[in-house]
Amino acid sequence: MNQGWIDELKQVIGENKVETKDSYVKRMSQDFYWYSPILKKQLSDFYADCIVKPSSVEEVIEVLAFSAQNRIPLVPRGGGTGNYGQIIPMEKGIILDTSALNKIIEIKNGIGRFGAGIKLGKLEADLANDGYSLRFFPSTYLKSTLGGFIAGGTGGIGSIEYGTLWDEGNVVRLTILTLEEKPRLFTIEGEELKKYIHHYGLSGVIIEAEIALAPYREWEDHLVTFSNINDALSFSESIAKSESIRKRLVSVSESPLATAFKPFEAFVSEHDSIVLLQVEKGDCDQVEELAHSFNGSFLPTFSEHVKKNKVRTTDFSWNHVTLWWMKHHPEATYLQGRFDTKNYLKQVELLKEKYPNEVLIHFEWISVGGSIVPSSQPIISYTTEERLNEIITYFKEIGVKVSNPHTYLIEEGGKDDWVELISLAKKENDPYQLLNPGKMKIGIG
Ligand SMILES: Cc1cc2nc3c(=O)[nH]c(=O)nc-3n(C[C@H](O)[C@H](O)[C@H](O)COP(=O)(O)OP(=O)(O)OC[C@H]3O[C@@H](n4cnc5c(N)ncnc54)[C@H](O)[C@@H]3O)c2cc1C
Repeated sequence: MNQGWIDELKQVIGENKVETKDSYVKRMSQDFYWYSPILKKQLSDFYADCIVKPSSVEEVIEVLAFSAQNRIPLVPRGGGTGNYGQIIPMEKGIILDTSALNKIIEIKNGIGRFGAGIKLGKLEADLANDGYSLRFFPSTYLKSTLGGFIAGGTGGIGSIEYGTLWDEGNVVRLTILTLEEKPRLFTIEGEELKKYIHHYGLSGVIIEAEIALAPYREWEDHLVTFSNINDALSFSESIAKSESIRKRLVSVSESPLATAFKPFEAFVSEHDSIVLLQVEKGDCDQVEELAHSFNGSFLPTFSEHVKKNKVRTTDFSWNHVTLWWMKHHPEATYLQGRFDTKNYLKQVELLKEKYPNEVLIHFEWISVGGSIVPSSQPIISYTTEERLNEIITYFKEIGVKVSNPHTYLIEEGGKDDWVELISLAKKENDPYQLLNPGKMKIGIG
């Protein structure tokens, strides 16, 4: 530990804002990178020197100025729920805990302005009191922050209606601080947003975010089981594309994935492929009818069961499917891919033929640029890195667009359309390359 500069930092921002306790620093330096056996090997030994938790924008400015003056690396942190080691401090230094920047600043005309460190779960609950809801949120919403989601996530529950972070109108404005001796504070909108969405905190610290909100609706959770994955997928497509059923979650898990969803064990057998849904209250009869037309079993008591037991289908969707499965199968890992909308049944058939015991299908239907498409986080039985790479290659060969979750480099993660823009912003905002060092390989000089 570098006691010299840490003592100085304590003088600048206050002793109680800087934490160096070993166990705490280690916990705050980690995210969910261990979903990947590759990242687990690469990233397990990196820790920060200290965690700094400013409680105002002025204090963040002081920390960033200190970091620039003393050339100390710094990683902004939200809830620490990222999957690619995004918050892991590869060159030690400071972890900037943003969680105290958690204010609801303004809600007006369907747009909300919030402190970047606000937890999405708390925000969703507070918005309901004003008749609003988040347009979409990750399944980690109870822990993850607005700034962390914008800087590290993509989409989630609600993306079937509203698309992802990049879709125009979802993120409206961001207020950014630079890492310089005299940090600059500025607000951006429009095309400039691309420099800061999914940017891993590389090109600036998000201080506030303005996002478009959805009207509050009452949702109901439903479960439909199927004896084969094809019927489950066809039903899921039909409901995803239905214009008369409003929904914010259509999640498909192939058998036997749902056996890992312990709170649902009374409802599923190991032979069931399942579709989990959140649909607007009142649309239940339509769901039941559609389920029957695809040979599905609609479980009428499920909705009451989840309410009574205070669980939600959303806790068994998106990357929570991987989490539940890994609890019982620690050797497993996952991939991320976008299947072809017209050809996905054939792609699934090819995968099942080639890897009958190594690939389990998990789809999340979302909207991209106005089209409903099958995004996917299939579960993979991991044996070796070579085998995993072979499987990734085959996914690509059959036309699945893979976003590789087994790399900590922003360029290699598959959401790289705007990496050049992020790099450009980094050059302007982080002249000493102190923000999250190690996560970007392209030169910025
Ligand atoms: C079980 C599980 C399920 C998940 N489901 C989803 C899902 O449905 N959808 C999805 O998109 N993702 C999902 N994820 C990934 C992750 O949870 C989300 O991306 C989440 O929103 C990240 O938010 P966070 O606050 O935890 O960010 P962190 O993990 O703290 O940070 C993520 C990145 O953002 C940067 N960052 C954080 N705050 C700021 C800031 N204020 N300014 C600049 N940079 C910042 C960090 O440096 C880091 O690079 C899942 C992960 C797990 C483990």
